Amino acid sequence: MPDTYSHTPAATPLKDPFGRSITYLRLSVTDRCDLRCRYCMAEHMTFLPKPEVLTLEEMLTLSRAFMERGVRRIRLTGGEPLVRKNILWLVDALGQEVGRGNLDEITLTTNGTQLVPMARDLANAGVKRINVSLDTLNAEKFAEITRRDRIEDVLAGIAAARDAGIAVKINTVALKGGNDGELADLLAWCVSEGLDLTLIETMPLGDVADAREDNYLPLTAVMADLKTRWQFTPSGHRTGGPARYFNIGDTGRRLGLITPLTGNFCDGCNRVRVTCTGRIYMCLGQDDHVDLRAALRSDNPQGDLHSALDRAIGAKPKGHDFAMQGGQMVGKVGRHMSQTGG
Ligand code: SAM
Ligand code: SF4
Repeated sequence: MPDTYSHTPAATPLKDPFGRSITYLRLSVTDRCDLRCRYCMAEHMTFLPKPEVLTLEEMLTLSRAFMERGVRRIRLTGGEPLVRKNILWLVDALGQEVGRGNLDEITLTTNGTQLVPMARDLANAGVKRINVSLDTLNAEKFAEITRRDRIEDVLAGIAAARDAGIAVKINTVALKGGNDGELADLLAWCVSEGLDLTLIETMPLGDVADAREDNYLPLTAVMADLKTRWQFTPSGHRTGGPARYFNIGDTGRRLGLITPLTGNFCDGCNRVRVTCTGRIYMCLGQDDHVDLRAALRSDNPQGDLHSALDRAIGAKPKGHDFAMQGGQMVGKVGRHMSQTGG
């Protein structure tokens, strides 16, 4: 594919009305996925028609505009980023930007199903660490939660990534009636495998088959249980993201907690999300967005993109409104996580 973009001189770094510098982009490369996690998607999803989805070249142009405005880390996500055709081309191009010093890191969040064939190429393209989502080690539970019988592919994928020299962190959504009985075992497995783990509270994003409240498991309750088995001490580790980290005893491993419901984390937000159709959402939990695709496909993509970015960042809200009130999850948004890019 042609690569004809020329960098413009350094432009003003992106800073939102609350003084937060935007240095991190999460770019959703597809809304499609080979799993159907119950808390993320409905079984029957209507996926976007191809012309609406940005081409990989457009995604690269967009990424470079962000880099010119101070973005230093890009995470590819989805949907499942590794089911996007030719995705390695984009990873490779962004890896080259890391090599040129225009970016600190290119990384991915993946469900792991495609890692066996792709891990080596990802490593060669410059990916040094990835997050793999895994909610259970139990094959039946995995099939129930993801509606697909693919746990062996995921476990083999994690091994393949590590063999290729990629550091893996596990992301697990805490699910009442789903994996609540085995989070301690999952943590023990991560520790024994030498993997860090981040636990995530389920968020009210899009309609799914089950009521959100039925699956909601506050991490305060999970931690009360985990503390009976491990000693946790706050870790100085920071990613500028929503997770708070704890050292797990003297194992050398870390536990991260993402607690949108029990502990708001928006004050230090450094990120924005772009969907595969080129919409920038300035907050995962709000509906405000700006269309970057129109700018990208205009007669003056570079100029129009930068104006659109100024408009977007100037409207970045203070934070999300997710909360539990009277047993109800409030602050819902209509989009699924797979649309916004998790
Ligand atoms: N398919 C990839 C994966 O599963 O890692 C990347 C996209 S997925 C949408 C990114 C992350 O969002 C996953 O860790 C997933 O568990 C999480 N997620 C999806 N829906 C969620 C929800 N409603 N609440 C909290 N986390 C959610
Ligand atoms: Fe697919 Fe990831 Fe959503 Fe699961 S969480 S359905 S793997 S996009």
